[in-house]
Amino acid sequence: MIEISGLTKRYGATTVLDGIDLRVEDGRIAAVVGPSGAGKSTLARCVNLLERPTTGSIAVSGADLAALSGRDLRRARQQIGTVFQSANLLRRLTAAQNVALPMRNQGLAEAEVRRRVGDLLERVGMLNRANHYPSQLSGGQRQRIGIARGLALKPSVLLSDEATSGLDPDSTRAILALLTELRDDLGVTILVITHEMDVVRGIADHVAQLDHGRIIEQGSVADVVRRSDSPLATALLPMPP
Ligand code: ATP
Ligand code: MG
Repeated sequence: MIEISGLTKRYGATTVLDGIDLRVEDGRIAAVVGPSGAGKSTLARCVNLLERPTTGSIAVSGADLAALSGRDLRRARQQIGTVFQSANLLRRLTAAQNVALPMRNQGLAEAEVRRRVGDLLERVGMLNRANHYPSQLSGGQRQRIGIARGLALKPSVLLSDEATSGLDPDSTRAILALLTELRDDLGVTILVITHEMDVVRGIADHVAQLDHGRIIEQGSVADVVRRSDSPLATALLPMPP
């Protein structure tokens, strides 16, 4: 479970996140939507502790990350896999080597690394691209490798920041199917940052709308779409064909 309470992030005099409360139950997918500059990526960076919150707490599976440091923090962060829009793969490493990197950094035995890389590449449908370099992969394929790498340390939580933006509909569908599968098969708790309402409709259990650093509306997708006068419900209506 991810439990964010009273999360505030300030850079100097600028308040980017202002009292965020958000809970994602185990094995659920929550989407955070909102306009550019709303604070979505900052929220994701606070949850994986790339940024320190100014105030508030972020509990992942019970442990308050903001209160940890040193080895305890590193251990807690291993529970959190992250996938960014650009996938951030290392250009000089093959797909398989990119996926293996977090495990090698952990000092896992080579036989175990190889076995798990094979499993992960298979899960994301990229076994036949294992020896390709990032420049030899499409955007959607790079994203899938990024997801496989995000899962390398068997996280209980996966953060995805705009993982499907800029992808064609087929690649987007493949990534969304993969995220749903991770939730359903492995019970991974997933926080998806997106500006695409299709993504929310397609996979999210819970949705929160962020604006100017505050959550202005949230709820289960099933409930939100039934609300009258709700901007989020309107945004979630499918486009007429
Ligand atoms: P987008 O949809 O464009 O990705 P976002 O919702 O992810 O937007 P953030 O990247 O979280 O937005 O940025 C939110 C605000 O915080 C922006 O106004 C940005 O300028 C500001 N901001 C982000 N990082 C910093 C920083 N290190 N120092 C100062 N301001 C920052
Ligand atoms: Mg962003």
